[in-house]
Amino acid sequence: MLLISTRGHSRKITALDSVLQGMADDGGLFVPERFPVLDLTTIVEWGRLSYQECAARVLNLFFDIDVEELEEMANDAYSSFDDPEVVPIQKISDGEYIIELFHGPTLAFKDIALQMLPKLMAKALESSDKDALILTATSGDTGKAALEGFKDKDRTRIAVFYPNDGVSDMQRLQMVTQEGDNVYVSAIRGNFDDAQTTVKNLFADTDFVSLANKKGLRPTSANSINFGRLAPQIAYYIYAYGRLAAAKEINPGQKVNIVVPTGNFGNILAAYYARRMGLPVYRFICASNKNNVLSDFFESGVYTIRRQFYKTISPSMDILISSNLERLIFEICGRDPKAVQLYMEDLKDQDNYRIRESDKLELDGLFFGDFADEYPTKTTIKRTFEDEGYLLDPHTAVGRNVYLKYKRLMQDDTPTIITATASPYKFPQAVLESIAREECKDAFDAAEKLQALTHIEIPAQISALKDAKIRFDEVLDKDQMGIKVLENLGKTKRKKKK
Ligand SMILES: *Cc1c(COP(=O)(O)O)cnc(C)c1O
Repeated sequence: MLLISTRGHSRKITALDSVLQGMADDGGLFVPERFPVLDLTTIVEWGRLSYQECAARVLNLFFDIDVEELEEMANDAYSSFDDPEVVPIQKISDGEYIIELFHGPTLAFKDIALQMLPKLMAKALESSDKDALILTATSGDTGKAALEGFKDKDRTRIAVFYPNDGVSDMQRLQMVTQEGDNVYVSAIRGNFDDAQTTVKNLFADTDFVSLANKKGLRPTSANSINFGRLAPQIAYYIYAYGRLAAAKEINPGQKVNIVVPTGNFGNILAAYYARRMGLPVYRFICASNKNNVLSDFFESGVYTIRRQFYKTISPSMDILISSNLERLIFEICGRDPKAVQLYMEDLKDQDNYRIRESDKLELDGLFFGDFADEYPTKTTIKRTFEDEGYLLDPHTAVGRNVYLKYKRLMQDDTPTIITATASPYKFPQAVLESIAREECKDAFDAAEKLQALTHIEIPAQISALKDAKIRFDEVLDKDQMGIKVLENLGKTKRKKKK
């Protein structure tokens, strides 16, 4: 499988090489040259397999690695998950299914890809003379998931930058207490967009890259701009559909809706890719929080980042520049790299772009975008807990809120899969306030109270944070990021444990 750039000026590379390269050198993102296509029988058959077996088969369509080897990788990657099904599916009401993607070591859906990416990276490194220097911008969850995935991995060093004051207490604690000899974590003054844009600019900064190269390092990304992040995410959409069909909850071939609480547009893009591969999807419901740049885009065809940035109770979606939208635009404009280039230039020069009317028509029947503000999100957490006995985290609650709105508006009874992207215990204060109207300053006190109220056990990873040692307390300006990475991770030889 070869990948091409959305902007048309990079040479084709293999999916495995793209894992090391991250972004294309023309500033674009790598996308499959063509989509592999699965027939229904195969999709339903794969739904009868274990998640690991299904994921291996999906990845085998993109990566030149044997299914057996991929199965070993998947078994290892998902052995740390606290549910034997890896991504269990819950039916919460008639025709409404939640796929729980948060059973990994860091309690967010990012683990599914970031437990697998290091295995793909190790494979790619076999044919590289340089080690990987992974630069990661995070809105809260990617950072910890990437650190957990790559800590103490051979021939890899990883730096994570998160927005100061822009993540939840638990998310921050997870990152600043990270163990491992090849890791560096820092807050930056700015928001996620500042972190992501600076990281993207570093990949294109020839001074930075050649300094890294001199130290035997090759900068790459663990963000969803890396195709190696997307591919493992396609697997759970195929698996979920196959599972529901195998359980006779849906008929093979019957269309489903997919609801995704969205920030950087990676998770929902993976669902769209699954549809391109043959998954019967009726609508994608793209749910935003108060930073509703995407729902405005789906309504008007104009993407504009000239707007206020809000900090919300769903911080992992506090994003204005959704990188992966570029990959969707590439598809709907008929894979025209020149059009993509023009849009992205407009975005850079004038903070917005407007897609062609014909391209907008492509989106209209397929994507429904809307958003949930803070209060409605809290109400959805409360109602869902009271009516369905199910505890949502604030991100997933944004998703369900928008879905219920969609369902009322469109009178659409199509079976629907909602992706649950994080454990409620990563955001205990917001969740407690939602269900008990009780404000609680301390995250651990809130978690205890939540446990007493819901009888859902606090995950061990959360309890362990209470006494974990803080290793990283720096706050940087964004123009210091490159220097600090090289200072902290550029040593010719990695420090060995004493
Ligand atoms: C990252 C994240 C999202 C948004 O996913 P994207 O792929 O960036 O759109 C939603 N919810 C949670 C909990 C996340 O960590």
